[in-house]
Amino acid sequence: MQNYQHVVDGRTSDLPLGKVVCVGRNYAAHAKELNNPVPTEPVLFIKPNTSLVNLEEPLDIPSHLGECHFEAEMSILIGQTLSNCTQEQASDAIVGIGLALDLTLRELQQELKEKGLPWEKAKSFDGACPVSGFVPITQGTNLQDQQIILLQNQQLKQNGNTEDMITPVLALLSYISRFFTLLPGDIVLTGTPAGVGPLKPGDQLSLSLSDSIHCITEVGPSAG
Ligand code: ZN
Repeated sequence: MQNYQHVVDGRTSDLPLGKVVCVGRNYAAHAKELNNPVPTEPVLFIKPNTSLVNLEEPLDIPSHLGECHFEAEMSILIGQTLSNCTQEQASDAIVGIGLALDLTLRELQQELKEKGLPWEKAKSFDGACPVSGFVPITQGTNLQDQQIILLQNQQLKQNGNTEDMITPVLALLSYISRFFTLLPGDIVLTGTPAGVGPLKPGDQLSLSLSDSIHCITEVGPSAG
């Protein structure tokens, strides 16, 4: 876990490092670009805390497992235990929002999907979840109006808004908590807008979440 710790409002947080619960295909345009049907219920998967790394440090991606795709997503840091929770309880438990990359070994995922096997190796490897610091939500924060932008080598690749989520954040947290208890320090990734693509060694990525988060990172030289 390479020195990763949660950062909230610029300060290191005492919250433990928990699991990361992710939702697949939460934006219709992204489901379409991968030729997946738009799901009628959220598609959930988990990345372990060993996948967490700092988004602003050079990304160390596996080198011999085929294409590794970026997926820029809004992340949610959880501060209270949530089990079978209401949307109001979910709202009260949010410590902050941030940005994350749901790194995906796309060719390996495709191979596993075709065989009807679980995706973990493609989604949950060490370093598969680079995350930014989190900003606290305030009364003025509209979770469903956050602009997610990703540029790869100065070229705009992803430009989506959380208003286009199929399952909005609070409904998603409530749904997740029916299957997996969310604990303080857990993170939820809320799905990626369209425009995902492969990373190459030396790529520079610039990401932003509305006006609240901007980060720059690069793919380390060991990758490829
Ligand atoms: Zn994703």
